[in-house]
Amino acid sequence: DGSVDWDAVRADFPLLLREVHGKPLIYFDNANTGQKPAPVIEAVDGFYRRQNANVSRAVHQLGTEATDAYEGTRGKLARFLNVRSDELVLCSGTTFALNLVAYSWALPRLKAGDTILVSRMEHHANIVPWQLIAERTGATVRVAEILEDGTLDLDALRRAMTSDVKLLALTHVSNVLGTVNPVREICREARKRGIVTVIDGSQAVPHRRVDIAAIGCDFYAFTGHKMCGPTGTGALWARREHLQAMPPFLGGGEMIKEVSFEKTVYNDPPHRFEAGTPNIAGFVGLGAAVDYLDRLGLDHVERREAELLAHLTEALQQIDGLRIFGTAPDKAAVVSFLIEGAHAHDLATLLDLEGVAIRSGQHCAHPLLQFYGVAATCRASPAFYNTHAEIDAFVAALRRVRTLLG
Ligand code: PMP
Repeated sequence: DGSVDWDAVRADFPLLLREVHGKPLIYFDNANTGQKPAPVIEAVDGFYRRQNANVSRAVHQLGTEATDAYEGTRGKLARFLNVRSDELVLCSGTTFALNLVAYSWALPRLKAGDTILVSRMEHHANIVPWQLIAERTGATVRVAEILEDGTLDLDALRRAMTSDVKLLALTHVSNVLGTVNPVREICREARKRGIVTVIDGSQAVPHRRVDIAAIGCDFYAFTGHKMCGPTGTGALWARREHLQAMPPFLGGGEMIKEVSFEKTVYNDPPHRFEAGTPNIAGFVGLGAAVDYLDRLGLDHVERREAELLAHLTEALQQIDGLRIFGTAPDKAAVVSFLIEGAHAHDLATLLDLEGVAIRSGQHCAHPLLQFYGVAATCRASPAFYNTHAEIDAFVAALRRVRTLLG
């Protein structure tokens, strides 16, 4: 893509300059967490240097500035994702967001005979909370299967949406396969059947323009640290009517209007769900991350990552005995693979000595790996700030370590 100076973009990320084991770092673990551009690092630093105060309605100047900065990020996220800011609950990340839906929406509503539908490709964060709720309520968790290429079996999914299904929990983009699910169509079908939809947007929001209103889901969860923001930040978007009807998840300061020992009046959403002192500096950083991605343009990010993915896939396909898991036509830049005769962890360990950071293991998706009958995979996930030269260097390193492993 000629319209963006990608070398200049890369230079915004100071960490990418470092070496690992005496080699230039090649950071291909972006599906795990992303690196941070200087404006985000400076925003966090600047907050602690110049503004630090609590957001607890202090009337002093610093308190006002901290509150404005925190609430400013809520507004930026709302514009970024095309939703109302009072429908965005700020929290520590996707895991918290999904548990909030589980405990505040599902737990009081589900009962024996109800079904929670999840897909085979979910991250544990979108499986285990539903199992916990099923245990408590007597509801059942049903699995919508995938096809060999790593796409959802849409016919099976439709058949699985029977009248006992109350909730569908589905990832927008798979963190292992890169598969982009047609969430808009699926949410439309679910809605027709009265099924509430929860979308895990962890791997979507950083990589393409996400318009939550257009998707038409009921809940959308995402995490800040994969979208250039600090760890411990994220949000849950929910339809206003759901938030209004949901009891608090955690109790404490900030989430109440009035407290007495006789009766406590909860605050309105979204603050009802934000008990205690939040990660204020983190959200200041996340606001800078949204500004950064906005300036760069998600369309540019998507195109750049598609080019890197095409290059990476083609280069890996030249390696004898290498198998790629997930070949969906609509795919984010995540490549899971195995090489015949080599353990995933051995490959990743030897690659680390070459300066290459990839992930090996089960990627918090045991049921998905069970589907493919493998104990672990290697996963390389480049981001827009990676380069074609890094892909060539990675593939060359992979060929070398493969030879070492015999
Ligand atoms: N869902 C998916 C698809 C993910 O990739 C991740 C992060 N690996 C999560 C959920 C959990 O996100 P967090 O750890 O930030 O809560």
